[in-house]
Amino acid sequence: MKISLNKKILAGCLITFLLFSTILVLLFLFGPLLPWSLIKPGFKKIETESVQIYYKEEKYLDHAEMYASVVENVIDEIEELYGLEQQSPVSVFVVDQGDLKRYIPWLNKGVGGATLQIGDTIYINIEKILETDRDPLEYLKHEMVHEIIYQNSGLLNAYRMMDTSLFTEGFPVFYGGPTYYEDRIKFLEEYTEKEPQIVVAREGAKAYTKIGETNSASFNYTLYGEFIQYLVDTYGQEAVNNFLHKWINQPDNFRSDFKEIFGRELYEVQDDFGPEL
Ligand SMILES: [Zn+2]
Repeated sequence: MKISLNKKILAGCLITFLLFSTILVLLFLFGPLLPWSLIKPGFKKIETESVQIYYKEEKYLDHAEMYASVVENVIDEIEELYGLEQQSPVSVFVVDQGDLKRYIPWLNKGVGGATLQIGDTIYINIEKILETDRDPLEYLKHEMVHEIIYQNSGLLNAYRMMDTSLFTEGFPVFYGGPTYYEDRIKFLEEYTEKEPQIVVAREGAKAYTKIGETNSASFNYTLYGEFIQYLVDTYGQEAVNNFLHKWINQPDNFRSDFKEIFGRELYEVQDDFGPEL
């Protein structure tokens, strides 16, 4: 009787172990753990000096090759512009909508690109980008800025930075786009139309940094990029970089760091920025 009970417990443990092992293997091969899997089923790879580009469908081979031909130059440009250095290699996965949903299920599958806060993995949703008639190169440039910033901030700060989308998205858009408006006039028209909805909150980290409290990511991103452009035009790239370096190392102190570097409160500069557009 006692032996039989022990056998049952053993069998139970074995089944649980096998179940967990199987789930883990599936997560590595076909799910969110893929970037750290030694085997990447169905993917082919092109390597450059500091980037591995993985592409699944033969139909995305052209895009993977185009990315490989420019990505080192993109890294150089970002390092030069923002005074930051890429710390370690990065994997860029060129995927479609279905893949994106499987590899980062917690994200809206409609995004054109995403960078993991750990800073070593980028997904580019080529299907979505082509569907919306946008430029695949702009998405690579945008995500590479995220990646280099995350590599220099550390994981914890990378998550803290998510509260300040004005800067989190402003710096990538300022360098790389994507361009959501064919011409500036259309953007300004929309700005004029949406202005009443724009909230410049003076307290509370989250609300504070979202200039555009609209549901349109395209509009908000463009606005964030324009704000960084305004800072560069007004205070110079060096001052903006000083702020960037402080912000990525202590994201919660962005208010006092902003004031220290630019000599004015963020909300004051935001107030001036609107009419300057
Ligand atoms: Zn982004």
